[in-house]
Amino acid sequence: MPRRDQHVSLAHGNGGRLMRELIEELFAPALENPLLDTRADAVAVPTPQDLELVVTTDGFTVQPLEFPGGNIGSLAVHGTVNDLAVCGALPHYLTVSTFLEEGLEIEVLRRAIAALAAAARACGVAVVAGDTKVLGRGDCDGIYLAATGLGFRPRGLRLALAEVRAGDRILVSGPVGDHGAAVLLARQEFGLRGDLKSDAASVLPEAQALLRVPGLRFMRDPTRGGLATVAHELARASGLRVQLAESSIPVNDAVQSVCELLGYDPLYLACEGRVVAVVAPESCPAALGELRKVAPGAALIGELQAGSAQVVLETSFGGQRVLDELEDDPLPRIC
Ligand code: MG
Repeated sequence: MPRRDQHVSLAHGNGGRLMRELIEELFAPALENPLLDTRADAVAVPTPQDLELVVTTDGFTVQPLEFPGGNIGSLAVHGTVNDLAVCGALPHYLTVSTFLEEGLEIEVLRRAIAALAAAARACGVAVVAGDTKVLGRGDCDGIYLAATGLGFRPRGLRLALAEVRAGDRILVSGPVGDHGAAVLLARQEFGLRGDLKSDAASVLPEAQALLRVPGLRFMRDPTRGGLATVAHELARASGLRVQLAESSIPVNDAVQSVCELLGYDPLYLACEGRVVAVVAPESCPAALGELRKVAPGAALIGELQAGSAQVVLETSFGGQRVLDELEDDPLPRIC
């Protein structure tokens, strides 16, 4: 790219030379693969006959665009891959639409796309289609990404909220709240800095480990609204009481400190690299064993009980506290 083009201009989205150069010099080398390289308007993707296609889509508007442990590019891959992974699928393909704000530094975009490409490669997925639009100053906030993920899973896999039963156990693959706390700290306005890092990562190893265990009922990645929100989804869908043990829920010390300082509850803060799993009681030891091979911090944190649909936390002091459902996300734009 010529040196004068240090920032994104409206012309980078107008279909002319500047847009062609942006695609040829920034996107294509980072993302190259045989399907993308056809430069067709649409691509045919091979679909294995004995598997079923699983599709997910997500928008990414995180602020700031770069945070400790990732950026909007890697987050778009991990967020999309994880939604496929917790549905029992192996991710294969991604499409990515990029919305850029006029005036964005090209270097920021380059770092986002490099991280996106690296994350995609590490997860074994190919970006097979993409689009770029540029909006005027103030019409968007730096970069927005919209990603669609395609994966395949065995036909007839029974993995759903409807499968959970009273007595089932609830596992989490590691400490909760890291992503929310890291993004919170990365925002200038708090004037705080810590060594906190987002947990943003692929949960494919965790999901695949759990899928080996008969008696796995359901998995979800606790993103917006955190662990407490997944617990509410479980209670609402099953009509059961979700009982969580506070002392068993892993929370990193740095996350706990930030939450105490700023008045947040880590149980409501987003993770981007964790799995919550529900397993039949007799499968719990095997599930925890398999999970800990890839996620040593995994823990048994609670169970589903007959009773009214609510989420109850047994506190570290032996009391019981009802966890309310969030009215609103305390931390918008974390993904
Ligand atoms: Mg999800």
